[in-house]
Amino acid sequence: MSLKFGSWLFGKWGPLEKSLANWTKDVLWPEGAFCCACGRVTDGSGLCAACRESLLHDGAFFAWSRSDPAPDLPAWSLRPHDGVPRELVIRLKYGAEARAAKLLSELLLPLPVDVSFPPDTVVTWVTMPESRRWERAIDHGRLLAETFAEKLGLPCRQLLARRDRREKRQATLSAEQRAANLSGAFRPLGKIDFPVLIIDDVRTTGTTLCRAADALRAGGAEQILALTVTARK
Ligand SMILES: [Zn+2]
Repeated sequence: MSLKFGSWLFGKWGPLEKSLANWTKDVLWPEGAFCCACGRVTDGSGLCAACRESLLHDGAFFAWSRSDPAPDLPAWSLRPHDGVPRELVIRLKYGAEARAAKLLSELLLPLPVDVSFPPDTVVTWVTMPESRRWERAIDHGRLLAETFAEKLGLPCRQLLARRDRREKRQATLSAEQRAANLSGAFRPLGKIDFPVLIIDDVRTTGTTLCRAADALRAGGAEQILALTVTARK
């Protein structure tokens, strides 16, 4: 094991520490004893009263907003990328806190009134590069999609493979760089002859959703729609 790999694996908030920290927490305290967003003690529901209140009282909780990144890709996001939803996304994505997926999928319902999908719709997620999944100690996209699909009573399957050469992090790139970074990144896993609902955590420019949708279409998908929890403005 190289020194660099060793210090990454065992270092502060390497995947090993994240997994151990979450495992220890789960063993010592029941799930939901502490607020997933701010860490305060709760009544066991996973979000403290103040954080719940912040969701309900800013008047925008059910503010699904529609913004299609491409003409044939209808896409909605629940909230701007701030406050409690942003905190939950961060806990899930970088803190490997699986319970955040459950809380987020609760926030996603009810769906926007203009969203409807046929009964044979399959839910999927934007596949992460394998190297990043390892680093994060959790496949947060998959977890979010699976939890939400269960709530909707729809099947959830991985439909896309992702090239594993190390991509640059999308968050640091301009719109043109994002498109170039993801060109050819996805390919369909088999024939996709059913409608697809893509669930993702954060949407920035929509480039990732578009590239994922291109690959789904290459696999045969005709009807695709996307829901994200938050959207960066
Ligand atoms: Zn809280």
